[in-house]
Amino acid sequence: MELHLPEKVNRAIKLLNDNGFEAYAVGGCVRDMVMGIAPHDFDITTSALPEETEKVFGGYRIIETGIKHGTVTVIMENEPIEITTYRIDGDYLDNRHPESVNFSRNLKDDLSRRDFTVNTLCFNENDGLIDLFGGIDDIKSGIIRCVGEPDKRFNEDALRIMRAIRFSCTLGFNIEEGTAESIIRNRELLRHIAVERIREEFTKLLCGKSVRETVSKYRCVIEVFIPEYAALFGCEQNTPYHIYDVASHSLVATDFIENDKDLRLTMFFHDIAKPVCRTTDENGTDHFKGHALTGEIMSREILKRLRYDNKTVEKVSTLIKIHSAASPKSKAEAKFLLSNIGEDRYRDFMKVRRADCFAKANPHSHDEKLKNMQSFLDEIKKNNECYSLKQLAADGNDLKAVGITGGKINFVLKSLLSLVINGECENDREKLIAKAKELK
Ligand code: ATP
Ligand code: MG
Repeated sequence: MELHLPEKVNRAIKLLNDNGFEAYAVGGCVRDMVMGIAPHDFDITTSALPEETEKVFGGYRIIETGIKHGTVTVIMENEPIEITTYRIDGDYLDNRHPESVNFSRNLKDDLSRRDFTVNTLCFNENDGLIDLFGGIDDIKSGIIRCVGEPDKRFNEDALRIMRAIRFSCTLGFNIEEGTAESIIRNRELLRHIAVERIREEFTKLLCGKSVRETVSKYRCVIEVFIPEYAALFGCEQNTPYHIYDVASHSLVATDFIENDKDLRLTMFFHDIAKPVCRTTDENGTDHFKGHALTGEIMSREILKRLRYDNKTVEKVSTLIKIHSAASPKSKAEAKFLLSNIGEDRYRDFMKVRRADCFAKANPHSHDEKLKNMQSFLDEIKKNNECYSLKQLAADGNDLKAVGITGGKINFVLKSLLSLVINGECENDREKLIAKAKELK
C-alpha cells in the first residue's frame, strides 16, 4: 500500500527522528489514507517528551494548551500540527477523564489506549505502516472493534460508545459483535458525558452514510439523550401517503437529503411531534394535525438541551415549522413565502420537501410543485422582482416625509409590499408614496 504524507508532516516526523525520537502519523489520518479518503488533519505521535518536542521545534511557533496531556501544537506554514507524546492513561474516575497521564517511550503503550483497532494505525516513510492490533484487516472487512476489553474501554470513557456508532455510520462499517453488545449494555454511562461531546458525535453520525441503519440498530443509545425519539418507532401512519412508521420515514428522509448538518437535523426531527399529535378517525385513518408547529417547539427544546448554537436551533426549528406548509402555487405566493423566510430558507424548504416526499408512498407526488417553486424563484431572481422590504422602492424616510410615524411605518411598508407583490402597485417610489398617503 502506497501512502503519502503531506510534505510538512514528513518534515516534522523527520525532525523528530533526526533528534533521536520515534515519530509517526497516527489514528484517523492513517485510517483515512488507507481507505483512500483525504484526511482533514494529521496527528503525530512521538517518543519525545513534550519539553523535548518543544526543543526540537525551537524555531517554530508553538501552542502549549494541550501540554498537560502531552500535546504540543506546532505551527508549520500557518497550519497547526498536533504532536503528542506516547501515553499510558491512568485509571479513569468519571467515565471520561483519566486520573493521570503517564508518558511512555513505547509505541505499543500509546496504541493500546486508543479506542478502535481502525484508529491504531501508524505510518512514517521509513518504517511504513505499523499495525499492531489488526486495524488493516478490520478496515478491509469494515469492522469497528474495541482495542482490548469492550466493557473496560467503555467504562473508562463512555464517549467511545458514541464514537463507535458514529464511525459505523460515517465509514459504513459494522460493529463487531462483542463491541456491539457492550455498547448496548453500557449505554447508560453516556449520562456521565458532557452533552456537548455527545452532540458533536451525534452530528457527525447524522452526516454519515447509513443513518437509518445505524439509528435503528442502536436506537437505545440515541434514546439515552433523545428520549423523545422512542415514540417514533412503531408510530404507524395509516394514511394513503405513507408506507413507513414515523421513525423509518424520518430516517429514510435523513439519509436522502444532502449531507449538510442543518438539513440532516431537520429531517431527523421533522416529525418528532407526530406521536403526540396523532388521532385516528372513524375510518381508521390517522391524522397528525399541528405536528409541524408542535414539532417546532419540541425540536427547539431538544436542540437547546443538546446545546446546539442559536443559529442552528433557529434554522432547524424554522424549517420544521414550515416543512408541511403548502408550496406556493403562483409567483405571488412564492414572493410572499420569500418575504417571510428569505431566499436561503426557501431553497432549503424545497430540499426538505423533496426528502420528505422521497420517504413516502409516492416519492414523486411533489415533483411538479417543486419544479414550479424552482421556476418561480428563477424568474423572480432573473427579473430582480421585488419580494422584500429591502427591494421596495420607498422606505421609512419616505413615509415619515408624508407624516406617517412610529409603529405605523412598518405596517404601511408591509402593506405596500403586499400591493407590489400582488401586482396592485408598481414598485415605483412616487406611486408607492401616493399609495401610502391613501393608506394613511
Ligand atoms: P475524525 O475523522 O473524526 O477526526 P479521528 O479518529 O481522527 O476521527 P479524533 O477525535 O481526531 O478522531 O482522534 C484522533 C485519534 O485519537 C483517534 O483516531 C484515536 O486513535 C484517538 N482517540 C480519540 N478519541 C479517543 C477516545 N475517546 N478514546 C481513545 N482513543 C481516542
Ligand atoms: Mg482526527
